[in-house]
Amino acid sequence: MKLTRRGFVGAAGAATAALAAPAAIGQARPHVVVIGGGVGGATAARYLAKDGKGAVDVTLIEPTRTYYTCFFSNLYIGGFREFQSLAHGYGALVSDFGINVVHDWAIGVDRDAKTVALAGGSSVPYDRLVLSPGIDFRPETVPGWGVSAQHAMPHAYKAGSQTQLLKAQLEAMPQGGTFIMVAPPNPFRCPPGPYERVSMIAHKLKAENPTAKILILDPKPKFSKQALFQDGWARHYGGMVEWIGGDFIDGIEGVDPAAMTVSAGGDTYKGDVVNVIPGMKAGRIAELAGVTNEAGWAPIVPASMQSKMDPNIYVIGDATQNGDMPKSGFSANSQAKVAAMAVRADLTGSRLFPAKFANTCWSLIGTDDGVKVGAAYEATEEKIAKTSGFISAVGEDAALRKQTYEESLGWYDGITTDTFGA
Ligand code: FAD
Repeated sequence: MKLTRRGFVGAAGAATAALAAPAAIGQARPHVVVIGGGVGGATAARYLAKDGKGAVDVTLIEPTRTYYTCFFSNLYIGGFREFQSLAHGYGALVSDFGINVVHDWAIGVDRDAKTVALAGGSSVPYDRLVLSPGIDFRPETVPGWGVSAQHAMPHAYKAGSQTQLLKAQLEAMPQGGTFIMVAPPNPFRCPPGPYERVSMIAHKLKAENPTAKILILDPKPKFSKQALFQDGWARHYGGMVEWIGGDFIDGIEGVDPAAMTVSAGGDTYKGDVVNVIPGMKAGRIAELAGVTNEAGWAPIVPASMQSKMDPNIYVIGDATQNGDMPKSGFSANSQAKVAAMAVRADLTGSRLFPAKFANTCWSLIGTDDGVKVGAAYEATEEKIAKTSGFISAVGEDAALRKQTYEESLGWYDGITTDTFGA
């Protein structure tokens, strides 16, 4: 099959949305294809099927049979969760919601023909397409690093075998060794994620390798929940953690995976374990579909999550450039529900309510020491805009921190059930 790619159809989102092809109202079972069975995609597929009550035919394309959540993967590294507790399957989406789950890679989108090409050779037609492919890496942000170096210097920023590898490397680290994290430039998935990871690694090393050192080389001059993390590191882990930020280094000069070194700010640091989290962009299929901008992200119409480049395509989750919402599982789940509602309204004429979004990111700093940051959002013409927010405070009492951690456990169970239906 020859794949063509239509060029940009317009720059102004709202105007582009208004140009959407007539909805397939009256047609038997309009077909929605969802690419990516992570938090965003699986939630969108489930809500389309659940709320559509048979009016919409839903196909979910996802290569893996088991999805491992990135959220709580740091807690697995820290010893607070079992690896299997991160695993989720697609059985309930098939049996309870009638979703057609296809385990394959989408390798192209023909926007004129409205078909998705699969690596297995077949082509799936759609009336509307939902893209939730998550992120891919920009290796050029860390010279010397690439996918061929991800065994020596794991990213562990797509959960699964990479997470297990990083944990195994930490366990094999010599006593008194050095763990180096190369933190990512903005924007990236889960802004507190690298720093929660440092907390969990410090927790592990304090028990198993108490003279070890943790060095964070960070191209950013500041980071999410910085005061909370730095206070927690000082309270729990003494002088184990050192953060060198973007005011002291001008980006990462490079890494040498053979020598296990990182160069930044004119100095070269040698690590025993090196965790490289490179810069990010939208998952490649979004680029292949032609819905990304020069920065590598997919701009969307805030009220519907419709692509600004194609009214038949909706993009959700980490792949989007949306305005104020961070790239998180909570955000992806929230955006997926808005997109599912908008797609149903578009295809079946069902009622469209004003888009409302929410996010909370919990992080665990030490045993029973949980913190959180969160916000509510609404759709404006220009962007998804923050309307109110909250953040944990330095100095909160231990009971509140424990309560915050316990809240996060409830959230994990709730969001994974909401996403995968089981
Ligand atoms: P993903 O969940 O990554 O799903 C993308 C899916 O698309 C994948 O399953 C992939 O296989 C599939 N895919 C990609 N390309 C194709 C293709 N071509 N064809 C078919 N399928 C494809 N978020 C929180 O809310 N709270 C947290 O505490 C939190 N902690 C985190 C900690 C870490 C260490 C990390 C790395 C992330 C964390 N996150 C957290 C962020 C969260 O995991 C992501 O924001 C979320 O997974 C985004 O959902 P998504 O659907 O956009 O992408």
